[in-house]
Amino acid sequence: MSDLRFKSVEEASSRKAVKVQIPEERVEKYYAKQVFNRQKMFEYLPKETFEVLVEAIDNKRPLPREVADSVAEGMKRWAIDCGARHYTHWFHPLTDGTAEKHDAFVEHDGKGGMVEKFSGKLLVQQEPDASSFPNGGIRNTFEARGYSAWDISSPAFIVDNTLCIPTIFISYTGESLDYKTPLLKALNSVDKAASRVARFFDPEVRHVNSYLGWEQEYFLVDEALYAARPDLVMTGRTLMGHDSAKNQQLEDHYFGAIPSRVEAFMLDLEIECHKLGIPAKTRHNEVAPNQFELAPIFEETNLANDHNLLLMSVMAEVARRHNFRVLLHEKPFAGINGSGKHNNWSLGTDKGVLLFAPGKTPRQNLQFVAFVANVMAAVHRHNALLKASIMNATNAHRLGANEAPPAIISMFLGSQLSSLLDEIENETSDENIELAGKEKMHLDVTQIPELLIDNTDRNRTSPFAFTGNRFEYRAVGSSANCASAMIALNACVADQLNMFADAVEARMEKGESMERAVFKEVKKLIKQSRAIQFDGNGYSDEWKEEAARRGLDTETSAPVMYDAYLRPESVEMFTRTGIFTRKEIEARNEVKWEMYSKKIQIESRVLGDLAINHILPAAIRYQNLLLDNVFKVSQLFKGESAETIAALDRAQIEDMARRMQAIKAGVDKMVQARHVANRMSDERSKAVAYHDNVAPLMENIRENIDALELMVDNEIWPLPKYRELLFIR
Ligand code: ADP
Ligand code: MG
Repeated sequence: MSDLRFKSVEEASSRKAVKVQIPEERVEKYYAKQVFNRQKMFEYLPKETFEVLVEAIDNKRPLPREVADSVAEGMKRWAIDCGARHYTHWFHPLTDGTAEKHDAFVEHDGKGGMVEKFSGKLLVQQEPDASSFPNGGIRNTFEARGYSAWDISSPAFIVDNTLCIPTIFISYTGESLDYKTPLLKALNSVDKAASRVARFFDPEVRHVNSYLGWEQEYFLVDEALYAARPDLVMTGRTLMGHDSAKNQQLEDHYFGAIPSRVEAFMLDLEIECHKLGIPAKTRHNEVAPNQFELAPIFEETNLANDHNLLLMSVMAEVARRHNFRVLLHEKPFAGINGSGKHNNWSLGTDKGVLLFAPGKTPRQNLQFVAFVANVMAAVHRHNALLKASIMNATNAHRLGANEAPPAIISMFLGSQLSSLLDEIENETSDENIELAGKEKMHLDVTQIPELLIDNTDRNRTSPFAFTGNRFEYRAVGSSANCASAMIALNACVADQLNMFADAVEARMEKGESMERAVFKEVKKLIKQSRAIQFDGNGYSDEWKEEAARRGLDTETSAPVMYDAYLRPESVEMFTRTGIFTRKEIEARNEVKWEMYSKKIQIESRVLGDLAINHILPAAIRYQNLLLDNVFKVSQLFKGESAETIAALDRAQIEDMARRMQAIKAGVDKMVQARHVANRMSDERSKAVAYHDNVAPLMENIRENIDALELMVDNEIWPLPKYRELLFIR
C-alpha cells in the first residue's frame, strides 16, 4: 500500500542514541488508514448499500444477502487502492492465536487472462478445510467442513497487503470452534440482561455495551540471544537459568526511563497500531527488567479483543525489525515478575451511562449499587469458573505457583465502596427506602460521587478489583485470548442480571416500588456474596486458609480447575444464556486438557534435550579440566601440600558429579513419567498426569542445572545467562 512518508530524526535530546523513524504526518492523518471503517464504507459503497450495512451493524444484525456483492465490490476496490492482492477470513481458533488462509483476488476472465474479483459469497462465508484445528472431538466425524462467517461488527483491515476479514468459525453442525462466536453470544446476552435492569432506571435504554481496555505486558529479548536459547524459541520461556545477581530488587525499572532502543521499537509499534485503528495510548516500563506494557483506549469488547489479537501478531513483527523478540509468555524468567494482561471491563448504556460509575442523582446511584452488587454475586457464584477461564499451562506459572499470587478469585472493592455496601447490608428499616426527593431516603447515596471520584485506594494484589468506574480483571495471562475471560465474565453477569430482573419484577408485580424492590434485592445479593470480597494482601499465606474457610475455590491444578466448566451450575448458566451447549463445553474442555498436556510435553522434551545435549556435556568438559588439574597437582606436589591444593577441585568435582547424576536420573524419570502419561487415552487423566507427575520433575532438574551454572567456567556454559538476557543496552 502507498505508505507513509517517514523522516529519520535524531531524537531531540542527546541522551538518545538511537534513530527513530517517525511519520511526517500527524496521527489524525494516518489513524485507521488500513481499516475499512465507516468513512471508507461511505467513500467506496453505493449510498443504499452503505445505509443497509450501517443499519445492520448498529442493530447487531447479520449482513443482508442482497447487499453482500455490493459491499464486497466496494471493499475490494478499497483494498486494491491500498495495494492489497489477497484476502483472508481471519478467525480465532482454540489455539490462543489467529488463523488465516490467503486467497488472491484473481479469477479467470474467460479470455485467457485474469481479473481481480471478490464476490459477496466469498466475503460473507467460506468453508475452510480446517480439520486440523483443535475441536475437542466435535469434528472427528467424516464431516470435516467448518464455516467461517464475517462478523460485521468488526471492520476489515489490511495487514501486509492482505485484506483480513474478521470471522467466526463454526462446525458444519453449528458448534463454535473458536473464541469469537461464544464471545459475541455472551456480549449479546449481557446486552439483553443489563438492558432489562438499566431500563428500571431509564426506560429509553435500548442497548448495553460491554467495554474492554486491556493492558498488554511483555518482555523484550535481543534477537541474537533469543536464538541461542532453544527453550525460549520452542516454549516461550526459559526452562533453566540461575537468578541474575541484579534483577528487579532495586525497583529501578518500573516507570523508569525507557531504553532508547526500546523506545524506537515502541514508537514504531504505536504507528503500526494507529494505522490499524488500534487506539494505543499508554506505554511504560514494567516491574521486571526488560518488561514493558502497552495499553490502548478501551473499546467495545469484541473489537477490543480483535485489536488485542492483532496487536500480539503485529508486535512480534515490529520487534523483529528492531532485532528484538517479544515474549508474551506469562513467566519467561523465574524469580522475577511475570506478565499479565489486565482486563479493564465495564458496561455502559447506549445513552452513554457507565453502569459501574456512581452518578449524580440518588436514582443513578441506586443503579450503580445494583450493578456492582450483581457483579459481586456473579463473581462469587462462579469464582471457580472464572478462574478456569484464565488458566492454562503458561498462566499457571503466574497464578498459584512460586513467587506469584495464589490461584484464588476474590474481589477488591476499596474502603469507600465497602462501607457503602456495609451500610446497605445493615440497613434494617427497609420501609424507609424511597428515592427521588422523598424525605425518607436513609442512605445518602448522593454522597457517593465525592467519595469515589478520587479512588486512589488501589490494591495491586487483587485478581479482580473495582477501580472507580470499572472492574479490572487482573488474573488474565499475557499470552491469552481475552475472549476466554470475557465470555465467562459477561456470561455469568448476564445470567445474574436476569435473575435479578426477574426478582425485582416479581416484587413490583406485588405492588412494591421499583426503588424498594431493587434495594431489597441488592441487600440480599450483598449478604449472599460477601465472601468474595477481600481487600487484604492476596499474596499472603493466611489468605489461602481464609479463602478456603469462606468456601472459595482454592484448587491449584490447572487441569482440575477446568472441571468447573462442567459443574451443573456452569452448564446451566451457559445453556440458559445460550452461549454454549453442553456438547460444546465438553469439547472445549477436551481441547483445554489436550493443550495443557502438549505444552508440558514440549517443555519436558526441550528440558530433557538441553540437559542431556547441552548442559551435561559442558559440565563434563569443565569437570575434566578440574580432574586434569587434580592429576597434574598430584604429579607436581607431594603429600599434604598436594592434598591442600587439590582439595578445592576435589570438592567441586564431587559436587558437580552429584548434580550431574541428579540431572541424568531426573531426565530418565521424567521420560518414564511421560511414557505413562502418553499411554492414557482420556484427555483429562493425561493432563492430570502431566500436571502431577511430569511438571514437578522439571523443577528438580532445573534446580540442579542452575547450580551447575554457578560452578562451570563461564566460557564453557552453552546458554546465554539471565544477566545477559535481561538487560538491554
Ligand atoms: P492502570 O495501569 O493504572 O490500571 P492504564 O492506563 O495502564 O491503567 O490502563 C487502564 C485501561 O483501562 C486503559 O485501557 C483504559 O482505556 C481502560 N479503561 C478506562 N476506563 C474504562 C472503562 N470504563 N471500561 C473499560 N476500560 C476502561
Ligand atoms: Mg497499566
